[in-house]
Amino acid sequence: MQSSGTCPRCGIGTLSPQVVQETITVGNDAVQVTVNADVCSYCGEHWFVQQATAIIDAALKKLRDGDTTQLTHIGEVYKAS
Ligand SMILES: [Zn+2]
Repeated sequence: MQSSGTCPRCGIGTLSPQVVQETITVGNDAVQVTVNADVCSYCGEHWFVQQATAIIDAALKKLRDGDTTQLTHIGEVYKAS
């Protein structure tokens, strides 16, 4: 593991590697991924490692293409208004 250092966003917090759940939306649809990210202790920003970006991109592509057979359906998205 590389040393993560200070958060580039706030310049205050330190980054530590964590496993995070990230929800990405495409239009009205959303896909949830569990990836490794460096998380800031101060502002909470997630900085994704390259591997995580690839996982997110792959999930996004499946959602955009409507190729949801390899995705797990976990719920619905509602709008209140
Ligand atoms: Zn920060």
